Amino acid sequence: MSVNYAAGLTPYANKGVCGLPEHFDNPEELKAKVETLAQLIKESQYLVVHSGAGISTSAGIPDFRGPKGVWTLEEKGESPHFDTTFEDARPSFTHMALLGLQRAGYLKYLISQNVDGLHVRSGFPRDLLSELHGNMFVEECEKCGRQYVREKVIGVMGLKPTGRYCEVVRSRGLRACRGKLISTILDWEDALPDRDLNKADDASRRADLALTLGTSLQIKPSGDLPLLTKRKGGKLVIVNLQPTKHDKHAHLRIHGYVDDVMKQLMELLGLEIPKWDGPTVCESSTATTETTADVKPPQPHSRR
Ligand SMILES: [Zn+2]
Repeated sequence: MSVNYAAGLTPYANKGVCGLPEHFDNPEELKAKVETLAQLIKESQYLVVHSGAGISTSAGIPDFRGPKGVWTLEEKGESPHFDTTFEDARPSFTHMALLGLQRAGYLKYLISQNVDGLHVRSGFPRDLLSELHGNMFVEECEKCGRQYVREKVIGVMGLKPTGRYCEVVRSRGLRACRGKLISTILDWEDALPDRDLNKADDASRRADLALTLGTSLQIKPSGDLPLLTKRKGGKLVIVNLQPTKHDKHAHLRIHGYVDDVMKQLMELLGLEIPKWDGPTVCESSTATTETTADVKPPQPHSRR
């Protein structure tokens, strides 16, 4: 399926500010800022990262409001250029670095607005991840809430039925659930998934450091979550090339490519970047084994 998932959404006028000019810190400035960030991370007790489309552009998936973003081009009557498909896209350096930060114990929770599935496919534990706008590879039972992570994109948007049915067998093993499976991808007017939003909200309140990567923070409520951390006395660090909606609230603003920032950061923290061997799904941060997509049925969860 084309990575132009946006083309499957209903038309919507209020897409926020698009195409703002990008800023780049000079190399010395960038280095000094990343050193400050590394120090803040070492001192933090509970780091939460908020990721947006800017962390997947190096994986060939266009963002929305960048100079070549989907909505920016749409305003000019142009179409975005795609280098890949969702299935072929590989996690970026930043995706793998975030996994490294989690494994090292620094990163406690990850909140993403991205639907490309790259956090899950990178092997990031799903119990420490909120995907607020859905995941192209995940379908969910509308009856029991079980989620299925697939190897191929679901191909249906807007929380609509996918044509498949739930295979969960209840404890007595007599009958499968057979609930309708629906897409997890939100359309503009759809409400955010309760479970993911509640967990993201809790983590944001608990955090003493919020780090935002590649998001203009314009979409509500996702973009406002880092402010909860600030309100509770925590610090906010923003990494983005374009200005963001909450720049004035940031303790530190870093204008650089996220992959460059993460590379310097991981070196300063002395951390390895986990190797990626193809799509891997890790359901739980406490699990001892990892599986490839589709091999193991996902753990049940309660949505409400
Ligand atoms: Zn079910």
